[in-house]
Amino acid sequence: MAESRIKILPDDLINKIAAGEVVERPASVVKELLENSIDAGATRISIEISGAGGKLIRVSDNGSGLTGDEISLALERHSTSKIGNLDDLFNIKTLGFRGEALPSIASVSKIEVGSRVKGVEAGIEVGSRIIVEGGKTVKVEDYGCPIGTTIIVKDLFYNTPARRKFLKSPAVELGHIGDIVSKYVLACPGIAFELISEGKSLVKSSGSGKLSEAIMAVYGMELIQELIEGQLEFKSGKIYGFISQPTLSRMDKSYENFFVNRRYVRNFLLNRALEEAYRTLIPGGRYPVAVLFIDIDPKLIDVNVHPTKREIKFQSTSEVMQAVSSMVTKVLSEIGSWDKGVETSMEARSRDWMLESKDQLPISSFEAGIPEIQVTSIQPFIPIYQYKQTYIISTDGEDLVLIDQHAAHERILYDKLSQKAEAIHSQPLLTPENLELGPQETAILQENVEYLKSLGFELEEFGSSSYLIRAVPALSIKSPAQQLLRDILAELSELGKTVQLEIKQENIRKLIACHSAIKAGDKLSVEEMNRLIRDLYATENPATCPHGRPTLIRLTEEEFKKRFGR
Ligand code: ADP
Ligand code: MG
Repeated sequence: MAESRIKILPDDLINKIAAGEVVERPASVVKELLENSIDAGATRISIEISGAGGKLIRVSDNGSGLTGDEISLALERHSTSKIGNLDDLFNIKTLGFRGEALPSIASVSKIEVGSRVKGVEAGIEVGSRIIVEGGKTVKVEDYGCPIGTTIIVKDLFYNTPARRKFLKSPAVELGHIGDIVSKYVLACPGIAFELISEGKSLVKSSGSGKLSEAIMAVYGMELIQELIEGQLEFKSGKIYGFISQPTLSRMDKSYENFFVNRRYVRNFLLNRALEEAYRTLIPGGRYPVAVLFIDIDPKLIDVNVHPTKREIKFQSTSEVMQAVSSMVTKVLSEIGSWDKGVETSMEARSRDWMLESKDQLPISSFEAGIPEIQVTSIQPFIPIYQYKQTYIISTDGEDLVLIDQHAAHERILYDKLSQKAEAIHSQPLLTPENLELGPQETAILQENVEYLKSLGFELEEFGSSSYLIRAVPALSIKSPAQQLLRDILAELSELGKTVQLEIKQENIRKLIACHSAIKAGDKLSVEEMNRLIRDLYATENPATCPHGRPTLIRLTEEEFKKRFGR
C-alpha cells in the first residue's frame, strides 16, 4: 500500500512553525518574557541583553515563580495557567493566554528557566532549573535562587539560519528591544524595569506607580512638560493619560501610544481618531504625542486576532474612536489651547496683510519702475514681484516665469548637500541644544552617527539617552536643530527597515533641504530673489525640486493670446 502523503507533523516542527509567527526577532522574545513576568505579578523586572539579543536575553522577575514540574509543563505547547475554557478566551485579563511563547522560543534557541515559588512547605526553599536546547530538555536540577523567575535565552535562531538572515543590524534590533521595553514601562508604571545592554543601562523606570514618571523615563524631562493629563468616561469604559499640547508635534506616529486594558496595541483607527482631534491644531503631515489608556470591559474586545496579540478588535470601534476624539477635544479645550494652536493659513494671511497695510500701502516693485530686462546665461530671469510671499513672478523678457520659492531653494540646497567633493560646512550653535532620545532613536542615531557627522552635525553623548547638538550643517543654521535631527532619526528609522544606504542618504538630504529652505511666507528682497534664480540655474535640474515637483511654471505669450482671444 502506498504511504499516505498526508502526515501529522512532529511537535518539534510544529513549535518551529509557531515560532515563525511569535518569534520574529530578539525583541519578540523580550516582549513574550516581559508579558509573562507582568502576568506573574512581578514588581521588578530586569532585562539584560548581549549581542542585540541574538547572543543573550536574560529576563529576571520577582513574580510568583514556578515549581520544577510547572516549568516542564510551561515549556510544553499549549500549556497555560491563564485560561481554561472558551468563556475565558473572551474575558482575558492577562497579557498572555495562548500558551505558545515558551515552547516557541525554546524551539529556536537554548533556553534556561530557573524559578522558585514562595512557600513554607519542605522542598520549596530551593528553586529548580531546566535547560532546553532546540526544544530538547538537557538538564533538570535543583537550583538556589530568589523567589521569582529568571529566563535566559541564548543563541536565538541558532538552528534556523534562514530566520537569522532576516535580522537587521544590531543597532536596529536593539532599537526594537528598547522600544518594546519602553511600551511596557509606559503600560506598567508600578513595575520597576531596567534594560541593560552590554552592561549599559538603556531604559530604567522607578516603578513608583506614577504615569508621569514612566513617561519621563521613556521620553525625558522636556517632553513631559509639554503634555497635558486628562480623562474621560464613556459608555463602556474610560480613557485617560497624557496628550501633547498643540505646540508639540512629531514627524511620525511612533509617539502615539495606545494601551487597551494595559496591553500595548496597534490599531490604526485609534491613531486616526486621535489625529482627527488635532487636525486643525498642528501642521499637516505632523503627529501628536499621546500615551493613552483605554480601560474597557474585556468582553467587548477580542485580543485573539493576531499571534503576537498586538492587534485587537473592538466590538464597537466607532464608539471607542468617538471617545478618543472627545477626550482629546475636551482636554485641549480645558487648557484653552484652541487659540494657542497653529493659526490657519487664512488667519496668517489676513494678519500679514493687516500688519503691512497699517502704516503704508503695499508697495509693488512696479512703483519703482519696471525693471530693465537684461538676462544672462547665469541669471536667465529677472524677478518682478514676490506674490503672496511664496511665488516669484519673473520674466526672461519673453515669457513670464512663476517660481515656487520653497521648491527652488530646496533644489539648490539638495544639490549642495549632494556634492560630495565640496566639504559640507558645519556651523557651531551659539548655545548647544539638548536632545533627549528614546531607545529606538538612540540606536538609530548611533548607527548613523558617522553619516550625520559628514553632513555637518556635531553631537556629543550626554548621559545615556541624551545628546548635545553642538553644530549643524551650515545651511541649516536657521531651522531648529532639535526638530531637524528628530525628523532625520524618524526618517532613518522608517527607512531602516527596507532601504539600502544610498537611498536612505538621499532621503536625508531631501529632508535637510526641505527643513532648511526658505518657506512659503518668507519675505524676500530683490537681491535675494535674484540670487535664488542664479543659484537655481546653477543646479543640474533647475526645473524640479528633489521630490520631483516643479520649481517653476512658464507662461508664454501664445498662452496669453489664446486666453485673451487675440
Ligand atoms: P501564556 O503566557 O500564553 O500562558 P507562555 O508559553 O508564555 O504562555 O507561558 C506558559 C506558562 O508559564 C504561563 O501560563 C505561566 O503560567 C508560566 N510562566 C511563564 N513565565 C512565567 C514567569 N516569569 N513567572 C511565572 N510563571 C510564568
Ligand atoms: Mg506568555
